[in-house]
Amino acid sequence: MQNAVLITIGDEILSGNTVDTNSNFIATELKNIGVKVVQIFTISDEIEIIKNTLKSAFEIGDLVITTGGLGPTRDDKTKKALAEFFNDEITLDEATFEHLKEYMHKRGRTEILERNREQAFVPTKSKVFQNYNGTAPCMMMEENGKLTFSLPGVPYEVKPLIKDQIIPFLKEKFNLNYISTRIVSVVGIPESILADKIENWELALPENLALSYLPIGTRVKLRLTATGIDDRLLQIQLEDEIQKLFPIIGENIIATTEDKIEKILGEILSERQLTISTAESCTGGKLAQMLTSNPGSSKYFTGGIVAYATQKKVDILNVSEETVERFTVVSEEVAREMAEGCQNLFQTDISLSTTGVAGPGKGEDGKEVGLVYYNIKVKNESETFKLYMPHLDRQDFAYFVSQKMIQDLV
Ligand code: ATP
Ligand code: MG
Repeated sequence: MQNAVLITIGDEILSGNTVDTNSNFIATELKNIGVKVVQIFTISDEIEIIKNTLKSAFEIGDLVITTGGLGPTRDDKTKKALAEFFNDEITLDEATFEHLKEYMHKRGRTEILERNREQAFVPTKSKVFQNYNGTAPCMMMEENGKLTFSLPGVPYEVKPLIKDQIIPFLKEKFNLNYISTRIVSVVGIPESILADKIENWELALPENLALSYLPIGTRVKLRLTATGIDDRLLQIQLEDEIQKLFPIIGENIIATTEDKIEKILGEILSERQLTISTAESCTGGKLAQMLTSNPGSSKYFTGGIVAYATQKKVDILNVSEETVERFTVVSEEVAREMAEGCQNLFQTDISLSTTGVAGPGKGEDGKEVGLVYYNIKVKNESETFKLYMPHLDRQDFAYFVSQKMIQDLV
C-alpha cells in the first residue's frame, strides 16, 4: 500500500467557515509510515457526491480516508453513502452501542436518544474503531485489498483515532516502516564547507539513515531521515547521531528540531540567561504574543508595552516630543527611542520596538502603508531596520514584522 486519497466532507469547509486541518494532520501521519497522499478532495455533504468521490478515489489510491458527516444530525450523510457505495446494510453493532452508552454515561448522560443510538449503526461489513472522544465511531471497509476509513470531522476526535489506532493498524497490516525525521539548523558555515566538515560523520551514518541539505537564507538545515520498524528506537538513533555532530560543529548549531523560530530564540535566551522586552506600535502586541507562545518564556520575557498613540510613546516610553516633531512618529529615531525607553522600563538585556503603518489608510503624517521601522537593542548596541511591505493586510503585516525581528535576533 503506497497511495492514499483523503476526502474531507462538509459544507462548512466549502463555505469557508471551517479550515480543513484534518487533511494536514492525516497526511503528515501517513507520511511518517511512508504512505503518500496523492489527492485530497473537499466535498459537500451529499450522498451522490460522496459516492462519486469514493469511486474516483479508488481509481487513484489503495487507501481512502474520509472525515466529517458522521454526526447524529440530518446534514451528516457519510454513513449512508458508505453503505450504498459498498452495497451494504446498516445495522446496530452491539459492541459499539455498549461503548456509546458507557461514553455517554461517563459524561452524565443517562438517557440515550434514538438519534444517539443511531450512531451505533454501522455497515455490516465494516470493522469498527471505537471513538474515545466522541459518539461517532470510525468504520473501515475493505474491498479488493483497498481500504476505506470513515472518521468523524471534529479534529480532536480525528487525531487520536489516526495516531493511536489507524496508523498502528496500517503499520501492522502492511508491514510498514516508520519514517522519522529530525532537522539540525546550522548557521555561519556555507553549505560546501559544512559538507566538508561533516563528511566523516556522514559516511559513518547507519544504513537506515539518510541526510539531505536544505539551505535557507543564511542557514543550512540538515535533514536526517531514519527508517525502521520501531518509532521509539528511530528517535533514539536520530538523537545519537545528532549528538555526534556537536564536537564537530556544535558552535554553529542553533536548533536540533524543526521548531518555530520563537522557540529557537527562547532556547538561546534561556541558555545565555538574557532577558527581553518589547515596545510595540504597529504590531499591536503580536511580537509579545509570539515571544510568549513558547512554554518557559517567563524565564526571559519580562514584559511588553503596546504604545499605540503617539502620546503614549512619549508618556510611557519616554520618546521625546521633539524627535516626533522632527522625524515623525514612524521613523528610525522614534523606533530607537522606543527601544531605549523600553529597556529602561523593563531593565532587560534586549529590547525590541516597532513603529509603522499597518494600513489600510496612510499614517497621520502621510507615511506610506506597509512602512515600518523596528529597533533591536542588545545591551548598549542599538540598531534600527526599515521594512516596506505594502501588500500585506494588517494581520499578516504584524505577523511578518514580528517573525522577521525574531529571525534577526536568532
Ligand atoms: P459531529 O458528531 O460533531 O456532527 P461529524 O462527523 O458529523 O461530527 P462534522 O459535522 O462534519 O463532523 O464536523 C463537526 C465539526 O468538526 C465541524 O463543525 C468543524 O468545526 C469540525 N471539522 C469538520 N471537518 C473538519 C476538517 N476537515 N478540519 C477541521 N475541522 C473540521
Ligand atoms: Mg456533524
